[in-house]
Amino acid sequence: MDVWTIGSSSAVPSRKRGLPANMINFKGERILFDCGEGAQRKIMQEKMGLMKIDRIFITHWHADHFSGLLGLIQTLEMEGREKPLYIYGPPRTGEFTERILDTGYFSRSYDIFTEDLVEGDVIVGEGYEVRPFEVEHSVNAFGFVFEEDSEVKADKERMEELGLGASPKIGDLKNGETVEIDGRTVRPEEVVKEVPGRKVVYSGDTAKCDNLVENAEDADLLIHEATCMHEMIEDRKGHTSALQAGEIADEADVDRLVLTHISRRYQGREDELVEEARKVFEASELAVDGESLEISPHRPEE
Ligand SMILES: [Zn+2]
Repeated sequence: MDVWTIGSSSAVPSRKRGLPANMINFKGERILFDCGEGAQRKIMQEKMGLMKIDRIFITHWHADHFSGLLGLIQTLEMEGREKPLYIYGPPRTGEFTERILDTGYFSRSYDIFTEDLVEGDVIVGEGYEVRPFEVEHSVNAFGFVFEEDSEVKADKERMEELGLGASPKIGDLKNGETVEIDGRTVRPEEVVKEVPGRKVVYSGDTAKCDNLVENAEDADLLIHEATCMHEMIEDRKGHTSALQAGEIADEADVDRLVLTHISRRYQGREDELVEEARKVFEASELAVDGESLEISPHRPEE
């Protein structure tokens, strides 16, 4: 499982940063979060697998977060895509997508399905789920939780102690059943436990808010907007400073914070943003377009 930064600029692109887009590679599937202008070129340049994208999640319908959709949809058509594409986002996602598809003349070889989400919805994929949650911005906006399915695992050492090495009853224990082995009663909690899956949270655009802290709790990775330094935050309503992003990461007790949605005014001095976040959260770093972040598994892979 990798998380790629495709674009990490805010509002306008800069020489080194494209408009917002992030992609998760989960067991071969590509899941795109936001699709700013230039996203498809970056995905191609870095060979991230454009054709493998089946689901696109838009945090909100400000142009910098969706302006790459038209081109990407068109390219998939030119490449002869046949399988459907799913686009999810806040209320009016269906309406806005319709309008994009009604711009000029172009045909399509595949279906596009859209879904207007509300907080509480769960989009279930193969081995993972995505959950939208409301954030505080000037228009309807979501953050997204991507979470790998949890798994019930047997504690090998404990099993051997109990002489359960290759007992066919391990399956029953994993299913939550109490079993009888050599005259001894073994309860599932003695040998199996639920191991949570990996969790990645993306803020989209938002002011510092409690709902984000709650939803980001214990995440392996929080990708959070840090539009400006704290001294400017009063002028940037609906956004977060690097300091606040650090506070959120700290309060949510995440493992790692990546700052994104960087204003071009910080070109060449982005380190100041990282330093500010590190005052409150040490494991802070800056998003770099084209770089991938590997999220190691919580359990040994079989
Ligand atoms: Zn916005």
